[in-house]
Amino acid sequence: MKNLLKLLWIPAMVLLQPGSINAQWFGVTRVAEKVWQINDHGTANIYLVEGSDSALIIDTGIGAADLVSTVRKITEKPLIVVNTHGHPDHVGANYQFEKVYIHKADAEAARNFMGDESREQMGNTMAQGATPAEGEKYAGPIHETKLVPVSEGHFFHLGNRMIEVIETPGHTPGGICLLDRENKLLFSGDNNNTLVWLFLDGCLPLSTYLQTLEKQAAMLAGFDTLLPGHGPPIASAFILDQIACVSEILDGSCDPKPYQSFAGDALFCTSGKASVAYNPENL
Ligand SMILES: [Zn+2]
Repeated sequence: MKNLLKLLWIPAMVLLQPGSINAQWFGVTRVAEKVWQINDHGTANIYLVEGSDSALIIDTGIGAADLVSTVRKITEKPLIVVNTHGHPDHVGANYQFEKVYIHKADAEAARNFMGDESREQMGNTMAQGATPAEGEKYAGPIHETKLVPVSEGHFFHLGNRMIEVIETPGHTPGGICLLDRENKLLFSGDNNNTLVWLFLDGCLPLSTYLQTLEKQAAMLAGFDTLLPGHGPPIASAFILDQIACVSEILDGSCDPKPYQSFAGDALFCTSGKASVAYNPENL
């Protein structure tokens, strides 16, 4: 558990006040037509996508605060919930929902991270002990959340918009991205962050991750904007920087730097705007 909790590298952590109580736990920003980025107190991004019939919540953050009420201030439509992958900063508030979709290869990890103990650890580590103000704490039912498997090609039908599941293994075996083809948006989880960690236990070999990036590059006509699990939106051509970065690692043309973090030591390469921290034993 501890190793898995080390997975997360969040630059915004430095902005947090250790142990503080925070009104306005969530920061809500409209990032596209009927799409909101809900910043989970500097730890991770949650997205809300509203269609004419229903709304999709993409990831649930670390689970410290009342996500349901925050979403309900934006939309009254029926809610569908999906996790991009099974890491604890993306499944934390699953307990606030009866049913959550996730790829089956990440379901076990998600289940391990959906309990009180994991949430508490995430609060102490990623949120640096910050707690939500009284009115922002979740007071609704604690659900025995049912995890429902989704895979490549599944569509979430929201009425006037459809969101498609794209399998993107690498950072985790069951990582998925969600594509809003009509609006040219790709909700990319931790697959396309500025710095992607590929050295953790559970990460797939770098060569597999490269295949995922090449698959995404072949679809570049389908989306203009990446909406990542951490950080602001990114123009989609960023994926080409990621491909260059991983290719240079694999062909030996990158001169790697040592990389140290609380999750352990790794090697580190950068190309353009993309950086990857990787394990040379797992290429
Ligand atoms: Zn992750």
